[in-house]
Amino acid sequence: MSLVTCKFGGTSLADAENIRRVEKIIHAGANRRFIVPSAPGKRAPDDRKITDLLYAWHGIAVQGLDPSEPRELIADRFEGLARDLGVRFDTTAHFAAIDASLAKALETAPDGTRPTADFLASRGEFLNGCILAELLGATFVDPAECIRFTVGGDLDPVTYELFSKRLQGNGRFVIPGFYGAYEDGRIKTFSRGGSDITGAIVARASGSVLYENWTDVSGFRMTDPRIVPEAKRMDEVTYQELRELSYMGATVLHDEAIYPVRSDGIPIQIRNTMDPEDPGTRIVPSRTSTHPVCGIAGRKGFTMINVQKTFMNHERGFGRRILSVLEEHGMGWEHMPTGIDTISLILRDEELGPLGGKIVEDIERHCCPDSVSLQSGIAMIATVGQGMHHHIGVAARLFTAIANAGINLRVIDQGSSEMNIIIGVEDKDLHAAVRSIYDAFAEWE
Ligand code: ASP
Repeated sequence: MSLVTCKFGGTSLADAENIRRVEKIIHAGANRRFIVPSAPGKRAPDDRKITDLLYAWHGIAVQGLDPSEPRELIADRFEGLARDLGVRFDTTAHFAAIDASLAKALETAPDGTRPTADFLASRGEFLNGCILAELLGATFVDPAECIRFTVGGDLDPVTYELFSKRLQGNGRFVIPGFYGAYEDGRIKTFSRGGSDITGAIVARASGSVLYENWTDVSGFRMTDPRIVPEAKRMDEVTYQELRELSYMGATVLHDEAIYPVRSDGIPIQIRNTMDPEDPGTRIVPSRTSTHPVCGIAGRKGFTMINVQKTFMNHERGFGRRILSVLEEHGMGWEHMPTGIDTISLILRDEELGPLGGKIVEDIERHCCPDSVSLQSGIAMIATVGQGMHHHIGVAARLFTAIANAGINLRVIDQGSSEMNIIIGVEDKDLHAAVRSIYDAFAEWE
C-alpha cells in the first residue's frame, strides 16, 4: 500500500466539530496511516491558541507567580474537547503530571537560570495527540522517543532510524507535532509552526509516498491574497521555488519542512480541511507546468547600505573588509548587488537593529570609501519560477509592469540560478508593485 502521512494544523483541530471533520478525512483513505496533530488553535479570531497559553503559563511560573488562569483555560479546553468527542481523557492525571515535571524543572534548573519553555509548549501537541489517538483507535507515539536533537540543537539523523523502527506494524499511528528531545530526555521544540517539520520527518521515516499537510486554506496562491484578493491558486510548486517564496514571506508552511522530504522526493500536498475535495497545491521535485513564473512574494523591513569607492574593482579585499564589519557584529545580510564602483548590502531591519550608524562608521574606518549611506524603509519582492530560465522576456515584462505603475525601482538582484528576480522598492510601493507584477504574469503563457 502507498502510505500517506497527514499533518493537521491547529485550526483544523480547534474544536470537536473540526476534529470530527479530520476523523472523516482520515477514514476516507486507508493509506492515511501516520497522523501528526498540532495543538488546538483558535476557534474564532478573538480566541487564544493553546500554544500561546502554554507559553503564558511558563512565563508566569518562572516568575514564581500563580499561573492558574492559563492552566485552567488549557485544562478546560482539553476536557471539553474530550467530552464533546466522547473519548477517555484523564484531565486531572495529565495536568498533575505536567505540574510535577514543571516543578522539577524549576527546582533543578542550575542557579541563576530558568528552564526553557519547551516542555510546557510541547504539551498542546502531546495532549491533542492523546485525544486523537483515542478517537481513532490508533497507536500513540511520543516523538520525545524518536525525534532526537544533538547537544547543539540540530536534528540528529538517528531520528529516522528510531522512527522507522517505532512506526512498524499495521494500523494508524498518531505522532504529536512540534517537539522531540535531547538524548538525556529533555524536551525541545522546533520553532513556532514546527509541526510541519514533524510531519515531514514522519513522512520520510515511515516511507510515505505523500505528505498531506491539512490546513485552513486550499494551498498556495500566486501571491498574497491580502494584496491581490483574486490571486490564482498554484497547482504545483517545486521545493526550490517554495523556499524562495517563503523566504520572502509566503507563510503557509514552515520553511524547514521541505528538507526532510526533499532528498527522497516525497511530494507535500497542502490541503484544506474545510474543503477536502479541493486538491490544493502540490510541492514537488519538479513542475510539469511550463509557466515561467509561479509566484510573487514581497515583504517590508529591509535596509540598504550603499558603499561607493572609485576603482573599487582594483582594490584587493574590499568586499571582504565590508563583510567582515558585519561579521564582527554578528550580522547576516540578505543581498549584495554590485556596480562598478558601488556595493550595496541589504539587511533585514531586525538583523541590523539600532546599529546602522555604527556599521556605517566601521565601514568608513576599515574600507575608506568615498561615501557610505544608509537607506531604510525598503521592501523586497521576489518573482519566482523555475521556467524563467528558458523564457525570454521575463525581466522585460516585470520591469515594464513596474514602470507602468509609476514605481521607482531602488535595486535589482538576480542570482545565477535564474529562478528568481528580486527587486527592491520603497515600503509605500510594495502593494502596488506586487499587484502590477501579478497582473503582468497571471495570464502570461
Ligand atoms: N503549536 C505550535 C505553534 O503554535 C506548533 C504548530 O502548530 O505547528 O507554533
